[in-house]
Formats: sequence, C-alpha cells, structure tokens
Amino acid sequence: MARERLYLFDTTLRDGAQTNGVDFTLADKLAIAAMLDDLGIDYVEGGYPGANPADTELFGEKRKLNTTFTAFGMTRRPGRSASNDPGLAMLLDAQADAICFVAKSWDYHVKVALETTLEENIASIRDSVRAAKAMGREVLLDCEHFFDGYKANPDYALACAKAAYDEGARWVVLCDTNGGTLPHEVEEIVGAVCKAIPGTHVAIHAHNDTEQAVANSFAAVRAGARQIQGTLNGLGERCGNANLVSIIPTLKLKPEFAGQFDIGISDEALHRLAHVSHALDERLNRASNRHAPYVGESAFATKAGIHASAIAKEPRTYEHVAPESVGNRRKVLVSEQAGKSNVLAELERIGIKADKDDPRIARLLEIVKERETIGYAYETADASFELLARRTLGSVPNYFDVTQFDVNVEQRNNARGERVTVTMAVVKVKVGDDAMISAAEGNGPVNALDLALRKDLGKYQKYIERLKLTDYRVRILNAGTEAVTRVLIESEDEDGEHWTTIGVSPNIIDASFQALMDSIVYKLVKSKAPA
Ligand SMILES: [Zn+2]
Repeated sequence: MARERLYLFDTTLRDGAQTNGVDFTLADKLAIAAMLDDLGIDYVEGGYPGANPADTELFGEKRKLNTTFTAFGMTRRPGRSASNDPGLAMLLDAQADAICFVAKSWDYHVKVALETTLEENIASIRDSVRAAKAMGREVLLDCEHFFDGYKANPDYALACAKAAYDEGARWVVLCDTNGGTLPHEVEEIVGAVCKAIPGTHVAIHAHNDTEQAVANSFAAVRAGARQIQGTLNGLGERCGNANLVSIIPTLKLKPEFAGQFDIGISDEALHRLAHVSHALDERLNRASNRHAPYVGESAFATKAGIHASAIAKEPRTYEHVAPESVGNRRKVLVSEQAGKSNVLAELERIGIKADKDDPRIARLLEIVKERETIGYAYETADASFELLARRTLGSVPNYFDVTQFDVNVEQRNNARGERVTVTMAVVKVKVGDDAMISAAEGNGPVNALDLALRKDLGKYQKYIERLKLTDYRVRILNAGTEAVTRVLIESEDEDGEHWTTIGVSPNIIDASFQALMDSIVYKLVKSKAPA
C-alpha cells in the first residue's frame, strides 16, 4: 500500500516565541529557521510581521529556504474591507511563501472578544483568504479555540473552517488554544470535521496543558488530519506546544505510523535530531532536559546490573528504539549498584578494550565504589568516569601539571566610593619543560580560576580554545560540619559534544578545580592531543 504524505509545521519562531523568558533576535530566528529547513520540516512559521521590528525585518526580504516559509497574522478587522486594513496589507506584503491567518471559531469569542456578528467573522475569513490567494500565497487558517468552540456550537465552528476551505485555503488548522482537550475528544471532533473537509486539508495545533499535546496530535492523525503543528522541544507559552522532537521519531520509527505515512524528514536527518534539540537549548542558554524522550541524556540510560548485562548481550531487550537512530547514545550508568557487567559495558561503549578477567577491572570497580561513598556520582559525570577508567588501565598521558594556584577575593570601595567585590586567580602551569603563569579576573572565584587555567596551556592551547563550560552545579552533601561539596561541570566543544565532569571536596574551590581539570584533560584525550 502506498504511504500517505503527512506534513509537519513548525511554529517555534512564532508560538514558541511566546515562551516565558524566550526572546529571539533576528539572528536567532534565521539560524533556527535554517536548522529546521535542513531537518526537512515542510512549513516553518517565522513570526508575525508588524508585531515587532525583528519579525518585520525577517519578512522584509526573501529567505532562501526549501521549506514553505510562513507569515502569521490576523484576518481583516471586522467592519473594514480587505483593501482598507493596514495590518492585512502588511501581512500580504511579507516575503513569505504562505500566510497563516488566525481567526475566531468559537461563537462566544466572536461576540465577546471580537464584538462583531457571527456572519461578519465568516465574511472576514473569506475575504482574507481570497486576498492572500490573489497575491499568490498558500493559505492556512488557524481556527482559534476550535475544540472549545466546537463543543459550544459545532455548526458555527465548522462553518468557520469550511469558509476558509471553500475559499481555497490549503489547510484548516484546528487549534486547541487552551490546551485542555483530551485525546478521545480530539479524535472524535477531528473525525467529524474530516467528514466535511478532506483530512488532507486538516491540521492539528495542540497545546500541552494536560501534558497530552503529542498524544492529541496523534489522535488527530488517526482521525484523518494530515498536518501536525508543533515546536522544537515543545517550546510555547504556559506548558508549551506539541513537541516535534518527540513526534518526529515516533512517526519515523513506530511501525503504526511509519508504515502508513511519509514525512519530509530523511533517516539521515533523523540522526541529527538530538543535536538540533540540544542546539536550540544552547541558543536559549538553558540546560537540556536530560529526561526528554528520544533525545535526552537519560533516554537510553540504564542503572541496574542485571539490565546492563542483558543490554550488553542484546540492546533491544531494554530499548524501544535504537538510540543512534535519533543521534542519541546508549548509556550504562556506573553507580553504587554497579556490577562488573556495567563497567564492562560502559568501557565497551567508550571504546576501551578490556578483558573481563583483567584484575584492573576489579580495581576500577573498587575505586568507583570507594569514591561514590565519599560523594562522587559517576553516573552523571561520564567524562570523569572515562578518565578514571583510562587512568586505571594506564592510558592517560600526563599532559601538564598545575604546580600552584591562588584565588583571591577582595571586597573594598572603588574610586567612586562604591562597594565592589574583585576576584582574581593566578595559576602556575608546567607543560613539559615550559613553566607558565596566568592570571585572570572573574565574576567569582571559580570563574576566575577557570579563566586563568585555560588562558595559556602552551602547546595544548589550540585544543581547548573552543571549549565552553555550559553548566555548573553545586551540591552540599551531608550537611553539618562534615559537609562536602560536589561540583558538576558540563562542557561543550566545537563539535557540539557535551560531557560532564565531577569534583568532590570539603572546599568548593578544590572541588571545582578537580572538575575543571577533568574537563580539560578529557578534551585533550578526545582530541588525541600528543603527550
Ligand atoms: Zn498556539
């Protein structure tokens, strides 16, 4: 049986831009649009021309994208003609392939929010679709509050959708604007709509207020809709929109959908999905959700010893899809409960050949257990575990020595009489026969130490030039006078690879120093820097 085409519409740059704390610049929008285009998303909604300068500029010139680049805006205002509405004129002027109009489809909203008649609202939909079609644009109509509207007055909600379809809109988008509709209701209502409008012209736009936006999207597809709208990482106001990063692999990898539908995303592009998801977080300067389905750090992580030995034998026993298919990787957590099989499986994953009867393996396991009792957590700090394993097996060169460091924090009045805190670190490093001294000021002791340490590593400097610290987490363990500090540092390099290192000490600077050192040494090992 020939597969049907199912379309994906991304609204990260429009609806996703409503997320609390998210503020895209024009450069952000262009970079994200390029990423989505490269992934193979059919429609990318860039924004709302006229709503803010960045969006107006975004649509000010033709963007060279393969996707159907879409501008969002309102239908003509009630009581005006389409030719005499500045908002509509601006939208029609936008350099976009498609226009997505938003219109009311709940009679209550038409009367109360729009303060117009039900007939005038439908006339506005018809006129706007016609005007955009006349300009040669592909047209979509977002039926706002469609599901609530349908429950209140099915005939009117449907009439709004039908008016757009009859006027030649390519898609009628059924929006669950408040996000409160449940999957069985979505399936029932979309099924009814598809009796009046062919499903090949029906789209679903779900919000996540009951954490079922993804399920609602699939419910709509089962009922006949053939376009899914969503955002990267489920960005969006309140609880977010349907998460395309979860939807895409389900469509590609689950036989129920993969057997029935083709989407614009190739198998090869699917391998980049985890990277795309992390790159968006990176741009938003926030830590990725490690428990995100498919792409999270923990999505394919296993802890218990019995599972680890089964995974080593046959990965599919504990995995619903292959981690590599979405660009993720299997992770066997090396933890307090670690058995030898965990350690061996993890060594194999990181490419260290080891014989299970090698006494050094037992030694490594012993060290891991000892250290975990004093506060180390290797299941999170994968890079520190790898270094520990390589050191125990004798394969990490001694690249450089930090012979001394000094961190000074001073609070005083500056020349203008303001109270300021100044932090300065001095690090003495020995690389081979070369001795170096670096000093740096930072916004705190750890930052100053990090800057000084990475300022000059002699012949190794070129390997760490583009190393970035992306996250720094501190935890105080067993409070009281015995308290120790655990520091976890997440780093990223020029290839977009992330790793986590750990330090534990009663002294926070010392703990941070250990984690910083591990991060740098890990990068040198990874880059195969010569000893
Ligand atoms: Zn929305």
